[in-house]
Amino acid sequence: MITIPVTVLKMRIVPITGLMALAIGGITMAACGSDSSVSATGPRVVVTTSILGDVVEHLVGEEVAVEVIMPAGADPHDAAPSPKQVEMMRNADLLVINGEGFEAGLADTIAVAEADGVEVVRATDAIDLRGLEEDGAEVPDPHVFTSPANMVVIAGVIADRLVTEVPSLDTPRYRATVAAYLAELRALDASVEQTLAGIAEQDRILITNHDVFGYFADRYNFEILGAVIPSGSTLAEPSSQELVDLADLMVEADVRAIFADSSSPARLADALASEGIAVEVVELFSESLGEPGSGADTYVGMVRTNANRIAAALD
Ligand SMILES: [Zn+2]
Repeated sequence: MITIPVTVLKMRIVPITGLMALAIGGITMAACGSDSSVSATGPRVVVTTSILGDVVEHLVGEEVAVEVIMPAGADPHDAAPSPKQVEMMRNADLLVINGEGFEAGLADTIAVAEADGVEVVRATDAIDLRGLEEDGAEVPDPHVFTSPANMVVIAGVIADRLVTEVPSLDTPRYRATVAAYLAELRALDASVEQTLAGIAEQDRILITNHDVFGYFADRYNFEILGAVIPSGSTLAEPSSQELVDLADLMVEADVRAIFADSSSPARLADALASEGIAVEVVELFSESLGEPGSGADTYVGMVRTNANRIAAALD
């Protein structure tokens, strides 16, 4: 945790140099293609993760350009910003982040931006956080986005802050877009429950690469039996004793499938193979959107794809 002195300078760098405007415009076009008509001098909404980026884009529609720092498929615990992205974050009208140390590689930039007076909204502030065991201590679990029921609340909070920080958004059209998206998220939550309904009580067990799906498990009545990396971050390495313990648990519970982050499925399979465990490894999109065509290139698509894969493996 980085503590910043409370002498917050409410001074923001307002003028955009020609070079910076070009840089911002270039990134906008590369990121979203169709947004090239949005002025680089308009309101600047910057989002750290690809998941929250998609949510914010759905909330604002075509009204405002949204810059997303992490590309699809990135490991959000590990992603570091480019110098241009640091500038974007420090000059944002609103910076939307996950929070609770999730974006470890961006922590310094977030702290500096906030000290500069940039408005920051944290998804984790919107939710009653569950605890996560890490190195024998309980820490807040940052993976709030794995439950679409949480995302309904998070998206509502972000939508309100967007209007506060970008007053031009305060239109009937924006409010209608927000209401429609929140309804879509609620419907998603209900349909996931439906998709998972056929899984028997004793099969409602998740073993994952690291501790990602706690909120999902709480919401849909699963047990997290263990994680290959027993940590809230992908940055830790499992010890061989931890792998042996997990192997014992899996045999005991007759686990048929385990679930890996799409960004590192091979790592999980290799770790288990090294302990002589042969089990189906199912790839899930856990903390980052997938590429276009993956079925997980939006938050709604990602949650639906994961639910379908879990149901197919455990039903
Ligand atoms: Zn994680």
